[in-house]
Amino acid sequence: MEEWIPIGYLLSAALFIFGLKKLGHPRTAPRGNQYGALGMLVAVLTTVIKIQSDGGAQWTLIIAGLVVGSVIGIIMAVRVEMTGMPELVALFNGFGGAASALVALSESWKYIENTDLALPTGLSIQVIMVAAGLSALVGWMTLTGSILAMFKLKGGISVFGKWMKTPTWGPTWLNPVKVVLILSVFALIYLSIGEPRNTDYLWAIIAISCVLGIVLVLPIGGADMPVVVSLLNSLSGIAAAFTGFIIGNSVLIVAGSLVGASGLILTFIMCKAMNRTLPDVLFKSFGGSGEKAQLTRTKVGSDADEVAMMVDGAQKVIIVPGYGMAVSQCQHQVKEFADLIAEKFGTEVKYAIHPVAGRMPGHMNVLLAEANVPYEQLIEMDEINPEFPDCDVAVIIGANDTTNPAARSGEGPLAGMPIIDADAARTVVIIKRSLSVGYAGVDNDLFYMDKTMMLFGDGKAMMTGLNTAIKEL
Ligand code: NDP
Repeated sequence: MEEWIPIGYLLSAALFIFGLKKLGHPRTAPRGNQYGALGMLVAVLTTVIKIQSDGGAQWTLIIAGLVVGSVIGIIMAVRVEMTGMPELVALFNGFGGAASALVALSESWKYIENTDLALPTGLSIQVIMVAAGLSALVGWMTLTGSILAMFKLKGGISVFGKWMKTPTWGPTWLNPVKVVLILSVFALIYLSIGEPRNTDYLWAIIAISCVLGIVLVLPIGGADMPVVVSLLNSLSGIAAAFTGFIIGNSVLIVAGSLVGASGLILTFIMCKAMNRTLPDVLFKSFGGSGEKAQLTRTKVGSDADEVAMMVDGAQKVIIVPGYGMAVSQCQHQVKEFADLIAEKFGTEVKYAIHPVAGRMPGHMNVLLAEANVPYEQLIEMDEINPEFPDCDVAVIIGANDTTNPAARSGEGPLAGMPIIDADAARTVVIIKRSLSVGYAGVDNDLFYMDKTMMLFGDGKAMMTGLNTAIKEL
């Protein structure tokens, strides 16, 4: 059996790599997910075989772990609403970081407690303590940061008042605190090399890392949250790679590095989409007192019949989906609208996709793919923006920050973020329930422009009404 272990690990690493490759395109992504899951199954089975051949597996513990983990996973997957997915992803990042840090802790503890225990080949106790310290730093920071990010995505919890609310709360005095905390962890790791069996250092690293996760994520809010979520995802992978090193498990090092690297690539894609650098997001406060803009202006709403008549004459319509489409789950009605006007009026229809629309990377692509919208119609922001001056009607469904011209002003939480240039279209139709602000808490001038027609109401109800009005024309 033992000779199968390296082969099993190689197979699972290969499945992870193929899976990642397939995740690169929406059409092949479901298959990529299956490859990843299969890779994980092979890795788990191989590890169980390895434990058994190393001296006997504790089956009760393994089966209990599998049952508890599977039950929690199934319950969460079944119960989560599509709108709750971003929070669930944030929480899973945190669990991943904590799991890696706990395994690293228990493994290093074994060698600290038992001086006679043979160390893994090629490793000294000092090397193990450095890896355990780094795993603790990344893992515990990921846990507390992810839990905080989850609450920020949820929209805050009352007990922490405005600190936990969605928009940015970013006192600059936190910056030196962050730097001191990071430097102290590295100092403690350095000290632990001199006294590798002194556990006080490890506990201090864990405590500081937990605080660090909170102070790093606390000031970030508003439109910068996507960067944090992808960074935490990357960190959970890096923690796993450090742990793989301590327990000498090659597949954990490979899988952790893959998650770490792909998460980092996504982080930089998100930074580019927001026109920020990573240090800017982590150390600069992009304005915003944590208070939402006070709305004083009003706008008279339009109705479905009026919008249907206006779309009747349009040659080109660009649909701009946002978080509200996810909340109202109206992607099927949106697709029906696009098909209807293309068939009935011969209108050219495209979808403008902002990289941070919704609450998780790729949120709009996933929803529209579920409604069978052809991928060729989903156009990225940079490519679609030059088309707006030639567009008769921009139909915005539940998007707000990603279309807010305030981003061009250079001030406030949205400053500098590239947006969908929907305001350049000849007419703009906006479907949302009220004039209220988006995630970053900034009032949107687009609602009040003369060429804008507001359809106030829930996305699904409004799209259904609009489709009926078009059919009746
Ligand atoms: P926003 O979050 O800015 O706005 C969404 C709008 O949808 C709201 O103004 C709301 O207005 C409307 N809405 C809510 N429910 C409904 C409903 N049932 N029917 C119709 N409309 C509804 O959306 P965007 O997609 O434009 O921007 C995303 C924001 O989230 C950005 O700031 C981004 O940085 C941030 N973010 C993105 C993440 C990502 O990874 N993509 C992660 C974390 C944050 P009303 O209440 O009036 O209906």
